[in-house]
Amino acid sequence: MHVYIHVPFCARRCSYCDFAIAVRRDVPSDRFAELVLREWAGWQPHPVWKRSPRVDTLYFGGGTPSRLAPEAVARIIEQVWSDRGMERGAEITLEANPDDVTAAAVEAWRAAGVNRVSLGAQSFAPAVLRWMHRTHDAGQIGKAVELIRGGGIQELSLDLIFGLPGLLDRDWAADLALALALEPDHLSLYGLTIEARTPLARWAARGAVTPVDDDRYAAEFLIAHQALGDKGYEHYEVSNYGRGGRRARHNSAYWRRAPYIGLGPSAHSAMDDERRWNQREWAVYERRLEEGAPVVEGEERLGPQEIRLEELYLGLRTTDGLPAERVPADTSGRWIESGWATVSGGKVRLTPEGWLRLDALVASVSG
Ligand code: SF4
Repeated sequence: MHVYIHVPFCARRCSYCDFAIAVRRDVPSDRFAELVLREWAGWQPHPVWKRSPRVDTLYFGGGTPSRLAPEAVARIIEQVWSDRGMERGAEITLEANPDDVTAAAVEAWRAAGVNRVSLGAQSFAPAVLRWMHRTHDAGQIGKAVELIRGGGIQELSLDLIFGLPGLLDRDWAADLALALALEPDHLSLYGLTIEARTPLARWAARGAVTPVDDDRYAAEFLIAHQALGDKGYEHYEVSNYGRGGRRARHNSAYWRRAPYIGLGPSAHSAMDDERRWNQREWAVYERRLEEGAPVVEGEERLGPQEIRLEELYLGLRTTDGLPAERVPADTSGRWIESGWATVSGGKVRLTPEGWLRLDALVASVSG
């Protein structure tokens, strides 16, 4: 079993972000832990535990989980541990912003059981960080990495964003080099998208920002593939790279269609064909739990066609690939000819050029 906890609190909203967040100067950490654990308690009678009795990965995502008091993080981990037990060597990840990382916080996270930190670096260029409305500066990224390592947390992942508008004149290769100099175990690289109801969408609507063109987006994606490959990182999923066999085990569970429970506002849960998602807003989530009402906003059961589509999409986004018989031979032949896929060991695997067209390729075989 895999457990995701959505911690919605952020110091402010980044210019590109449409996640379910609650901007708070003072984070109600105790309240959050109490309510999430109330939701967790409601999951205990679920029959899925008969098949998957223990927790293999626990992921604090957000929002900004590093703004939660470490005592609240510890309280949640302890409860999960005592109710269900966790696999030996379970992966416990906490997403952190560089400006929240202090020696005391790292020590408390490590003592609570956190063994992996995913650090939201995004860029090392001061002008880019300001444009993104990030709360950290470039110097705080290296300092945070030092503290995380010095504090004994075993695994470190860095997030970067590429595909920024041309007006920023961002030097992507320079940012990659600075990230690689920190020798993270893992990197997640996300292409910028303009999401509705964000500051970025408003800037674009009034013509103050022009989205990056497809050629530059593709070029940056391929520059990263090359630069990270040269340094020994395996590009194992569209957006993810690991070295020394390190992969994000929690996210890999999603791509394998393993069962997971999501706790907190906007969190999703999935097991077999069952899908549920929670109320998006923290205030609504909080009120409903206080009233003893369900926090699930919606649920559905996937039909055979939807399951097939999910398997296609998830299979093609990782280097684990998809059983070759799932793609018609003339289609996979065309993909290979175009340099978008390879076939070996009975699996079709997309190349980086194929990943750039992932949605279109899935659509072409999902009918
Ligand atoms: S810190 Fe992360 S979740 Fe919060 S606003 Fe910025 S991008 Fe969104």
